[in-house]
Amino acid sequence: MAQPQSWEQRAQEYSMYGFTDLPSVHERGTVVLTHGEGPYVFDTNGRRYLDSNSGLWNMVAGFDHRGLIDAAKAQYERFPGYHAFFGRMSDQTVMLSEKLVEVSPFPRGKVFYTNSGSEANDTMVKMLWFLNRAEGRPQARKVLTRVNAYHGVTIASASMTGKPYNEVFGLPLDGFIHLTCPHYWREGRPGETEQEFTVRMAKELEDTIAREGADTIAAFVAEPVMGAGGVIPPSKGYFQAIQPILQRHGIPLIADEVICGFGRTGNTWGCETYDFVPDAIISSKNLTAGFFPMGAVILGPELSDRLSAAVEEIEEFPHGFTASGHPVGCAIALKAIDVVMNEGLAENVRRLAPRMEEGLRQIMQRSSNIGELRGVGYMWALEACLDPASKTPFDASLSVSERIANTCTDLGLICRPLGQSIVLCPPFILTEAQMDEMFEKLERALNKVF
Ligand code: PLP
Repeated sequence: MAQPQSWEQRAQEYSMYGFTDLPSVHERGTVVLTHGEGPYVFDTNGRRYLDSNSGLWNMVAGFDHRGLIDAAKAQYERFPGYHAFFGRMSDQTVMLSEKLVEVSPFPRGKVFYTNSGSEANDTMVKMLWFLNRAEGRPQARKVLTRVNAYHGVTIASASMTGKPYNEVFGLPLDGFIHLTCPHYWREGRPGETEQEFTVRMAKELEDTIAREGADTIAAFVAEPVMGAGGVIPPSKGYFQAIQPILQRHGIPLIADEVICGFGRTGNTWGCETYDFVPDAIISSKNLTAGFFPMGAVILGPELSDRLSAAVEEIEEFPHGFTASGHPVGCAIALKAIDVVMNEGLAENVRRLAPRMEEGLRQIMQRSSNIGELRGVGYMWALEACLDPASKTPFDASLSVSERIANTCTDLGLICRPLGQSIVLCPPFILTEAQMDEMFEKLERALNKVF
């Protein structure tokens, strides 16, 4: 009789990974997870891991939040599914849209639902292309983003993403233009102050608009803090320098708040932390605290008025997903917003962010191979360097960050290698004691690898 296969063998035989370093998996196997408690997850061997990745930035209330489970259960019993098409939508969808506009930085607005952040970004692009054609500017299709930005994997959102790996798909599409990553530590020139660097970033934007033609550009899309690019906060004054340029040319500024939104930076929105009001917000992940796949485009007053007028003109906006505005997702999102904003989760991030920064700074100071600590709120990265003084990176073939993350996994800590950085973005419920556990395991891993 054939031997029953292990979970690991079954996982590898029948499931395909995305975004996974396959040599690591071939060498180490697959971790198959069964359940979670607070910020911890457990595998099929009963091993416990502190997940300082929050799943994928999204499980901000932990993995077993009672209120979120109850909200989901109650809505599954009441009304398990519906769309937002053909003149119908669920009461939960109506209530969530009101709530999202209420908590947005906009005095008025409108919301469109998707199943993911990628779809929300593609939806935003389609909205702008639709709007520009309707308003007699069909050529206004280009989208400006930045190198290292991450906006998703669908065709437009992958084209917006500023990572070289999309070349394997022949992306980006034409018309998706990537400006310099506003990472002063890495991109600043010798002798250049941070202020001068920001001025240079703004000048690059101005030059790009002049070169491409303002009337060909549909939007500038930016994460307030780049997440999957390696946790890169903008250089000082960045958004204040670029927004007036965009406004002068009538180019909407879209904030991709898929990671930053709902508490990750300590405030409701990343744009609040960096003190600007965009023309629209892209939300996902934390929107449902990871308990349901859902995304949303939240349009500010000007774009929602113009888009509504354009839609009235042709009597329909021909776009949407089967599960757009799913009532269970909306009920969970309503609860998640309440939990994060009113049950002390965002407050916990604000209160403990300085402690997290300090703990990581001490680890950096004790290590001889960390070049930079950067972040805000509960999103931080430590950049590994062969020589921190000269910012010389390790040879990429050494997979240093991958080795650190794998060693952390062995010690019971999940964290993420991104480029040469180790990223820590724990759930907002992380306590002081759990933070200390994270520091202790991370430092042990660094000491083993360096
Ligand atoms: N935008 C940002 C800033 C993200 O970090 C992500 C995912 O990590 C996305 C968009 C894409 O979201 P999804 O993976 O839900 O499609």
